[in-house]
Amino acid sequence: MINYKEKYDIIVVGGGFSGVACAISAARDGASVLLVEQTNCLGGAANINLVSPFMGNHIPKDGVERFPLSMGLFQEIVAEMKKLDGRSSEGMFSDESLKLVLQRMALSAGVALLFNTTFVRAIAENEMVTAVEFVNKSGVFCKEATYFVDATGDGDVAVSAGCPYQVGRNEDNLCQPMTLCFRVANVDIPAFEEGYKDLQKLYKEYQTAGKIKNPREDILRFHMVLDNVLHFNTTRVVKYDPTNGEDISQAEVIAREQVFEMMAFLKENAKGFEKAQLMSTAMRIGTRESRMIQGEYVLTEHDIMELKKFPDGIAACRYDMDIHSPDGSGTYHWFLPPGEYYTIPYRTLLPLKAKNMMVVGRCISSTHMAQASYRIMPVVCCIGEAAGTALAMAKCENIMPGQVDTDKLRSILVEHGAFVG
Ligand SMILES: Cc1cc2nc3c(=O)[nH]c(=O)nc-3n(C[C@H](O)[C@H](O)[C@H](O)COP(=O)(O)OP(=O)(O)OC[C@H]3O[C@@H](n4cnc5c(N)ncnc54)[C@H](O)[C@@H]3O)c2cc1C
Repeated sequence: MINYKEKYDIIVVGGGFSGVACAISAARDGASVLLVEQTNCLGGAANINLVSPFMGNHIPKDGVERFPLSMGLFQEIVAEMKKLDGRSSEGMFSDESLKLVLQRMALSAGVALLFNTTFVRAIAENEMVTAVEFVNKSGVFCKEATYFVDATGDGDVAVSAGCPYQVGRNEDNLCQPMTLCFRVANVDIPAFEEGYKDLQKLYKEYQTAGKIKNPREDILRFHMVLDNVLHFNTTRVVKYDPTNGEDISQAEVIAREQVFEMMAFLKENAKGFEKAQLMSTAMRIGTRESRMIQGEYVLTEHDIMELKKFPDGIAACRYDMDIHSPDGSGTYHWFLPPGEYYTIPYRTLLPLKAKNMMVVGRCISSTHMAQASYRIMPVVCCIGEAAGTALAMAKCENIMPGQVDTDKLRSILVEHGAFVG
């Protein structure tokens, strides 16, 4: 069973894609790792917010039409899921398979998993974190480590340690909207797809007539690995602050009404919905964007548009800047030219004011627009993997993450099967 200790080399807070990848890679490279997660499973937004599918991150290369930029651990996770259920892929996947696969991979790497445990605060002095406080059924307690990783998505640990950050857009701090995803069972999917175009037109008419309150401009649906099930990423709550508990509660209330508003519309108008039933809503409303923790480098939209390949690049991304409007209706896209990508510099993972901490996932150091591109699951997985490898190196050499030789880090990542650009 799991061997718990008082002190670890690394404590990772948050078991989403970035946190798990970080924990697994560090443990495989010989570090003792505690991974703390506030829910009962690994996978983060994929489970908690029912986010699906994996957005594509491929280019044509070396004669391969869809060469994946997210290699390494991400490909291993996909392969393990496919082995388990025969259906998951780099696009659609089973969230239940994901939970089991990540748990098995983490445990076999030697990661100590602590579920149902919430981060409370960081204890820091002179820009060094010495311990973190958690709460669970056992009560409030502290754990110590040499290094800490903030993989909470919202930068909770870094903020508590005193690191500077930016919320949403520069001009007004508005973030991309929050969305409560939901799934519908018993759909005749071919019939639904046949009527999908007309349905979109009708949706607009309903919206104009004030019969639909959801500000989203269209209906966004995805297919699932489950037969006859459709996934909807279509509710939209704008202008509520995803870092404020009261705002999040209000957003949950609004989004739940939107789910039932949409279900009523679909039942009334969608082909293939005759026997359809609401199957599930996510356990929690999904946050696309909240805090970006300021690091030694801030990744910007200009870097992406210039397709920069940084000398300390640790992950590659070609997903577009996909900005669901923080104001209401509309979605802005800036697509990378065909076959092109940019890389994410290691320095974006090094927060200011906390020397022994790294930040991974959707809250690394960037602008609002840049975050809208690299935040997808295949990319944050690579970011996490790189951080874990870097911390294992730091531990071996008894140095801080900011002192890691990034040329060596990049070579080790490539040896491990990653693509770093
Ligand atoms: C509505 C929505 C739709 C999206 N659509 C897609 C899509 O189609 N495809 C795609 O690839 N990406 C999509 N994304 C983006 C993607 O899902 C996320 O950006 C990505 O999963 C973030 O990974 P992460 O590891 O940074 O954070 P998360 O996956 O959010 O993981 C953070 C983890 O930290 C834990 N945690 C947080 N706070 C604490 C605390 N205080 N104590 C303990 N644990 C804590 C959480 O429980 C969670 O498990 C979408 C996101 C949203 C919200």
